[in-house]
Amino acid sequence: MRRPFLAGNWKMNTDRRSASDLVAAVRASADRRSDVDVAVFPPFVYLDEMARALAGSRVRLGAQNMCDADSGAHTGEISAAMLKDVGCELVVLGHSERRHVYGETDALVNAKVKAALAAGLEVILCAGETQEEREGGQTEAVVRRHLIEGLAGVSRKDAECVTIAYEPVWAIGTGLTATPEQAGQVHTYLRGVLAGLYDQELADMTRIQYGGSVKPDNVKELMSVEGIDGALVGGAALKGDSFTAIIEFDN
Ligand code: PEP
Repeated sequence: MRRPFLAGNWKMNTDRRSASDLVAAVRASADRRSDVDVAVFPPFVYLDEMARALAGSRVRLGAQNMCDADSGAHTGEISAAMLKDVGCELVVLGHSERRHVYGETDALVNAKVKAALAAGLEVILCAGETQEEREGGQTEAVVRRHLIEGLAGVSRKDAECVTIAYEPVWAIGTGLTATPEQAGQVHTYLRGVLAGLYDQELADMTRIQYGGSVKPDNVKELMSVEGIDGALVGGAALKGDSFTAIIEFDN
């Protein structure tokens, strides 16, 4: 049985005050809803403060990105060890904004995945196609590549520390949501890819989140789809009332 996993990616939003208010609302919501896992991914500069605000709570803390190197001459970068040091347990890797805006390749995503797992961080590995790729019938090939290349060289044991997020790029921040059927098909496909890469047991235990304009009014329908085990939420995770409504969705 996979526990629902609801995660809020704050991207480059909030300030000190609004981050504190938001995390307090999320913490209270997670206390009310003990049958789901909850995580937040604030901007780097607020992680330390958020870790303190979340001490002793059920809400897990993660970062939105990290460097593939351990330390050294990497101006402006943040290592996995630094994230652990300030209390992070997770990191999102391969987000479409990193891939498409900042040019991250599958090889770089893979290096980051391995560095994160080696440091003891759990990973949310994102996979998803653009509108053009979907229209060109490339959806399965693209998400398959994101998974296979993203997880290259990752042992089965380490793969147990990976959550997959299916995030169709055309649905991120656009208000467009994949229909439950579209999302369900890709989730089933991805689980098959995981079974091929590892084994059926690993595929059955891995949580696959959906991400792309998840909101309080569509979360219930999406979460009712077989194979959708949670959500990676952007815009709707920035307001306490909408993210708490997502956490406390009616199942
Ligand atoms: C995201 O940033 O991963 C995301 C899914 O954003 P949004 O919910 O705003 O579409």
